[in-house]
Amino acid sequence: MNLVTKTLLSTSILLALSACTSQPLNNAAIIIKHAQILPMDGKTEIIEDGTIVIQGNRIIAIGDASIVKGYSADQVIDARGKIVMPGMINGHTHIGMTAFRGLGESGVENRLKQVMFPLEKEMLDRDLIRTASRQAAMEMALAGTTTISDMYYHQDEVATAVAQVGIRGVMGETVIGFPVVDAKQPYGGLEYAEQFIQQWKGHELITPAVAPHAPYTVSAEFLVKSKQLADKYDVPLLTHLAEFRWEDAGVRKFSKQMRDGQSVVEYLASLDVLDDKLVAAHMNYLDADDMALVKQHNVGVVHCPKSNLKGANGQTPAWEMHNHGIDLGIGTDGPMSSNQNDVLTVMSYTAMNARTIHKDNSKFSPYELVELATIGGARALNMQDDIGSLEVGKKADIVIFETDSPNMQPNYDPFSTIAFSAYPQNVEYTIVNGKMIVEKGELVTVDLAEHNIEWRKVTDKVGNFAKTLK
Ligand SMILES: [Zn+2]
Repeated sequence: MNLVTKTLLSTSILLALSACTSQPLNNAAIIIKHAQILPMDGKTEIIEDGTIVIQGNRIIAIGDASIVKGYSADQVIDARGKIVMPGMINGHTHIGMTAFRGLGESGVENRLKQVMFPLEKEMLDRDLIRTASRQAAMEMALAGTTTISDMYYHQDEVATAVAQVGIRGVMGETVIGFPVVDAKQPYGGLEYAEQFIQQWKGHELITPAVAPHAPYTVSAEFLVKSKQLADKYDVPLLTHLAEFRWEDAGVRKFSKQMRDGQSVVEYLASLDVLDDKLVAAHMNYLDADDMALVKQHNVGVVHCPKSNLKGANGQTPAWEMHNHGIDLGIGTDGPMSSNQNDVLTVMSYTAMNARTIHKDNSKFSPYELVELATIGGARALNMQDDIGSLEVGKKADIVIFETDSPNMQPNYDPFSTIAFSAYPQNVEYTIVNGKMIVEKGELVTVDLAEHNIEWRKVTDKVGNFAKTLK
């Protein structure tokens, strides 16, 4: 045996030995490495130089740089210099209205009567709702929103658009006491909702729900019927609650069942509508007794400060609800009320609203704001076992922010960077249910050219009609 043969032989023996002794790599779909991770798992700790491993639709490992050695993946994201956190949750929206955004913003005495009602009466149809919902879902995916809770009409079209973009949606079909686009009879939405639930229950991204609009547009009888439908199918019940200063008096006039001295929250409690299935948007006008009821029944609350402030209604006791341990999330409300559909910027409005009310700039720390936008929203929607934090076994709903842009520097405290400095444009990747839907800042799930043709058709029609409104 010559020297070369001997060397080759010993090398191959060594290679064979090392193959026997080294651990085989576990296959994964996506590995995110070298990231600054905000797990939002109940602790304020940040994982520096962290790794997240995704297999199927779930997170299978999360930790420091050492865990990356055990895995191989088709897609590896080097997240050096990037902030990685749970996808954000927009707890209250009406995205089908996005085609009307920006109309009637000035010079209109009664926006509801002069602009909104005529637009909804004349313009709403399935095509508009689906196209407008797709436009908004794209906007939200690009801004790192991975779950929304929405109330509107033809909610099957909203669900179709949301699922196509690839984000998660709790979709509440509206029940309301007058004829609307998808129900010729008052309260026809209840029947529509049942069919919608039957069609969509079990979908991997969509949770169908029932949405009685508000206690001033839905009678006691139909509030109860909506609740019974939600119970029958074990789905969420979405509503607007205690939104307006006049609401207690208004509902008392509207409903004989609401007794003198009762608040609207007490009225709903007397109807047995309050429970952990209920997601109540706004809750601007409630006292300590109401808050105790909300907490006692585990009602989820969604605070919409941007919409409340724009509508000169910004007095929500959000800090008090947070301190009561109420399951509190944040939302944009509809695009007629707060225009931007992203929930990212709602974090700073939440702080500003509470700090102005309390004249105290310590209300809502950056960590607490990120909590509201992630795990807080998940708790409000009763989805905390699956989403809202980055933990092994949870669904892989993840957003990755770059920090190279001027507005993202310096990044001394990533919670503060996200809550107060970030713009939607700083989102680089959005992953929902283990699937990449935004990659390097581009949406990869929708054919934009095709969508834009439909969008232009819809907005040309709405724009022409809007010129006739006075
Ligand atoms: Zn609303």
